[in-house]
Amino acid sequence: MRSGFGCESCGSPGVRLPADLTDDAMISCDGCGCTLMAWGAFKRRVEAQEAAERREPSERHAAAAQQRATR
Ligand SMILES: [Zn+2]
Repeated sequence: MRSGFGCESCGSPGVRLPADLTDDAMISCDGCGCTLMAWGAFKRRVEAQEAAERREPSERHAAAAQQRATR
């Protein structure tokens, strides 16, 4: 899962998701194992990032959509 950010401690972009995905469940860094944030906060962060990407110029959007289609 791509999170779009790196751990502040070790720079790892990977996260360990909790088995129980409630908004209060904490996710931890896949690199150093430190607690990052609650799943609910993480989810909102990812959603905000995706919304920001959708607001990019249509040319870049089209290129991104093409990349997704050919993956
Ligand atoms: Zn880390």
